[in-house]
Amino acid sequence: MQRGARSLDYGRMTRDLAPLRDVIARHGLSASKALGQNFLFDEQLLARIAAIPGDLTDKAVLEIGPGPGGLTRALLRAGARVTAIEMDRRCVPALAELGEAFPGQLRVVEGDALKLDHDTLMGERFAVLSNLPYNVGTALFVRWLGGQDWPPRWSSLTLMFQQEVAQRIVARPGSSTYGRLAVLAQWRSTARLAMKVHRSAFTPPPKVMSAIVHVQPAAMPEGISAHVLERLTEAAFGQRRKMLRQSLKAVPGALDALDDLGIDAQRRAETLGVAEFVAIARRLT
Ligand code: SAM
Repeated sequence: MQRGARSLDYGRMTRDLAPLRDVIARHGLSASKALGQNFLFDEQLLARIAAIPGDLTDKAVLEIGPGPGGLTRALLRAGARVTAIEMDRRCVPALAELGEAFPGQLRVVEGDALKLDHDTLMGERFAVLSNLPYNVGTALFVRWLGGQDWPPRWSSLTLMFQQEVAQRIVARPGSSTYGRLAVLAQWRSTARLAMKVHRSAFTPPPKVMSAIVHVQPAAMPEGISAHVLERLTEAAFGQRRKMLRQSLKAVPGALDALDDLGIDAQRRAETLGVAEFVAIARRLT
């Protein structure tokens, strides 16, 4: 499609779509607490979120939990080809309407994102954008960051979390929020806090503030098993108040590795930098 044609379409679509509150009322989409439903209606805010990963024109995007389609519309307007996985079948007719307004740009998959293989579903490199349901957000995040294959099929993750979880993801060593999530997110990726979102932006408002994290894959350090690093951080932060000589006792070879690397076994896990975890994992791999 030519540039001019796209901007013409953009203008038309912006005018044609009904306000999200009307869509919700017409389809009876009262928010379900069990499904972690807190909807965003502010289209300017949604457009800003969709802009975080950069130009999405013709890019494949995976969205988890589109709900009534607020973020989905912003992604479609940005020119993305969106695959949206939604567990709540009540939302499907509203999303089908959206698909009609953006022909060929939206594929809706009804199902549980935790049970689907995202790489197979997408079949090409893709960006992930999602206002995640809080109850599944961390599980999905750990899954996207895990595994030996690197770089992953996703080119970036732009994800809404509770602010406290977002702070744990981007935390630096020595801070009270630094832990397993930070190491997993930073040892072969860059993670930054892209935007804070006030609780009042959601309907219904959640109890806590939210924030969006943007993650991009970086080079994977050589000679390391991702599985070993995961086990190491699990043990180290499982007893975060303890000294390493105690918390790493159950990890074969870990205390020798500390010795070899000149890392004081009296330190606690929260004082170790990501590079130090990587160095220990390399010795154990
Ligand atoms: N994207 C919408 C927005 O920003 O307004 C809705 C966000 S709401 C916080 C989370 C959405 O995820 C809900 O629509 C919910 O039904 C859906 N959801 C919850 N668990 C899911 C799962 N395991 N797989 C796919 N979707 C899920």
